[in-house]
Amino acid sequence: MKFSNLLHPIFDETFPSWLTRCALNPKISGISERDIIEWKYEDDQKRRFLAPGLSMEFDFHESRGLALARELHLDVCIIEKIFRPTSTLLLSPNYRTAYCHLCIQSDVLQKRFPSWRKSWCYVTQPYCPIHWCLLSFIDGYPILDKQWNAYVRGNLGDYYQGRKGSSYTRRHMHGLPPNNIRAWLTLRVQMWINKIDRTRFCVLPGTDVLVDSIQLTSAVNFILRLFLVPRTDRNSSGVAKELLTAANPLIVHKVLDFKDRLDYGASNSVPYERMCALLLLGKIFNIFSPKEHSMFKKIVLDSEFDFPDSKTLGELSAGHVHAVEYSTLERQLGSLDVVSDYLSDFIEGVLC
Ligand SMILES: [Zn+2]
Repeated sequence: MKFSNLLHPIFDETFPSWLTRCALNPKISGISERDIIEWKYEDDQKRRFLAPGLSMEFDFHESRGLALARELHLDVCIIEKIFRPTSTLLLSPNYRTAYCHLCIQSDVLQKRFPSWRKSWCYVTQPYCPIHWCLLSFIDGYPILDKQWNAYVRGNLGDYYQGRKGSSYTRRHMHGLPPNNIRAWLTLRVQMWINKIDRTRFCVLPGTDVLVDSIQLTSAVNFILRLFLVPRTDRNSSGVAKELLTAANPLIVHKVLDFKDRLDYGASNSVPYERMCALLLLGKIFNIFSPKEHSMFKKIVLDSEFDFPDSKTLGELSAGHVHAVEYSTLERQLGSLDVVSDYLSDFIEGVLC
């Protein structure tokens, strides 16, 4: 598509980020800052009074953004093709405030505007693959102008949602140290998931078994969601929110059945929790080489956390599932098909 009178979208940029850049550019007519403010207002109202949906970043059907695109004579189908998400596991709009402070800095230096990335809105992308850092997270809602907010706040370090003991300080608590080993291992899993999303078939690590990528993605998504279920008044939390941190998991005071917990937890998770989910996934899917596996084990044990085997991890992962919900869990695991044979140790733990 010709963007002759507009700016060219940068790689991985979100739709509102690109339109905001266009609106702020004095050489571009047909769109103004006021249009963007109205769009944000409408989106905020929608989120407040209706169920949170795809929101500004990915709503290509009923958004003010789409109307703006039409006014600019842009082909809506092509807009959707460029800006649609490439992941099926999206963060909820209130959790799309994770960013790489170094990407933001370099944007401002080069283009005088911090562009938001689509991948920062995906559950499966807690690390910046360029700068090897865990994404920073802005806590609290509503966040006004998250782009510039992120630029001003810069590097916020690891963020934990829960509390540690009696201390109310919610930052910089005990977890896996932010070093290159942690980055390397998480990025190994992150890139493996990206590869599945891009190809039609995929070989299960360490085997010559070829599986349909859609099937593998659904297995990966199910297990990540299982790892990331929230703690509620009635249920304990998923392993990714508890196993590799000394912080007590945040309690969600809602009545959520098993399916609701699976949906809620993953989309309302912070980068540290998502990183833990990927590392544990890497372990049960044998994504790590023997050397990487021992590196992982070492950083976990050095940080004084347990390092369970796959079967125990399965047992721990099912700890929050009530007896009445058990058949749903069994059905979900049964639908993993060939992948379920591959994960037999883990699944044996879940179902024991
Ligand atoms: Zn970066």
